Amino acid sequence: MSMILNIFRGRCPHCEKGRIFEKLGNPFLFQMPKMKQKCDVCGHSFEREPGFFFGAMFVSYAVAVPQMVVLLLACKALGLENIPIIIIVIIAFILLSTTNFRLSRTIWMYIFRNV
Ligand SMILES: [Zn+2]
Repeated sequence: MSMILNIFRGRCPHCEKGRIFEKLGNPFLFQMPKMKQKCDVCGHSFEREPGFFFGAMFVSYAVAVPQMVVLLLACKALGLENIPIIIIVIIAFILLSTTNFRLSRTIWMYIFRNV
């Protein structure tokens, strides 16, 4: 349970105390989150090797698609037409992009934390 909380808080997968991101990003200002190179507390290097976060794209897909499906079903339940639903889902996708970026990279690091 604490691991899930640490993933949402963006804590280091090694010591679970240091923060992974120095800037959280802002979708309204088109700013992406900025990662730290190493953990401030334990010195753990977040990027194990070049291209390590390539696999986080697949995690991002697995995170974003259920969000959009839930939103789509909620809009359908409210009786909205298809075009407004598409616009709402696209806006939600953009607004959640920085959160999903952070979440997917953090989940990816936690998957390989003991390897
Ligand atoms: Zn650490």
